[in-house]
Amino acid sequence: MKIAIAGSGAMGSRFGYMLQQSGNDVTLLDLWPEHIAAINDKGLSVETNGKQQFVQIPAAFPKDVHDHYDLILLFTKAMQLEDMLQKISHLLDKETAILCLSNGIGNLETIQKFAPKSPLLVGTTLWTSELVGPGSVILNGSGYIEFQSIENVSHETLTAINDTLAEAQLNPRESDNVLLSIWKKACLNSVLNSFCTLLDCKVMDLNKSEYVATLKDKVVLEFQDVAKAKGIPLTEKLALTTINAALAPDQAGDHYPSMHQDIASGRRTEIDYLNGAIAVMGRELGIPTPANELITELIHAREEVTLK
Ligand code: NAD
Repeated sequence: MKIAIAGSGAMGSRFGYMLQQSGNDVTLLDLWPEHIAAINDKGLSVETNGKQQFVQIPAAFPKDVHDHYDLILLFTKAMQLEDMLQKISHLLDKETAILCLSNGIGNLETIQKFAPKSPLLVGTTLWTSELVGPGSVILNGSGYIEFQSIENVSHETLTAINDTLAEAQLNPRESDNVLLSIWKKACLNSVLNSFCTLLDCKVMDLNKSEYVATLKDKVVLEFQDVAKAKGIPLTEKLALTTINAALAPDQAGDHYPSMHQDIASGRRTEIDYLNGAIAVMGRELGIPTPANELITELIHAREEVTLK
């Protein structure tokens, strides 16, 4: 398959690398000049289990490519998605499928606005990746993809994409309610990522505070109310089961989650697509969401005082 990765940071580079290794024609599209230059000069540096290799994968700015692609894999941060869609608009047509696996609520609607005729699939993934500098990623662990075709996707296209992801050992699973999975993950991140960022602590440290348990319940109940109004079957029980499993002593990691790392590096966060999305939808629907609203404002305040 001829595949463009639109947003080739940590995750885009991982997926681009794995898809190229299984024989696909992959191009990494990005907007960070030093990252593109490093990949084209030396190859993408991929470190796995302490072993480093340089892999030749073409990297380019979106404006410099004009080929037809069978698949565009969108992997920006949620707040970068709209800008990327504008920059790849010349590559979008009804023959080019789009798959978006970025975190956050609202990505689907953004893509539909910019690419109404495109075959569209969305999903979520448990793969991880770390971008340690321009042109350099560390890949550890394994994961899977849960995805679903949303619109304009033929049976042949769906099968071809599923087979391509499977051949790349990305472990795809077709879902019949991927929006529930996306909301469940957003709810998990709205607790783990947001709380660790505000409390300046690692995931496992959240278990030390009784206040965290109370706050977690407030966030989850508001998610449940808004999800119900939106027709998403995310219940308090389901959300808490997911969050509590991630907080169990043998699971809660001795690490800072990605939002904490974003703030530490002086970058903006995905808060408007997590707690912030619930606050906005709650306002529109007349559903009170004070906990998610306050958390969103506090994270934005942290962004402003730490932004580089
Ligand atoms: P990322 O920050 O590594 O990359 C996103 C974009 O930001 C890329 O275009 C990248 O080039 C650019 N970027 C990164 N650092 C930059 C810098 N210093 N200067 C200029 N540009 C820079 O994002 P990611 O971790 O790949 O995440 C993409 C999506 O996948 C997000 O929605 C995220 O929540 C989700 N996700 C990430 C992981 C993970 O382990 N990284 C796991 C699951 C889901």
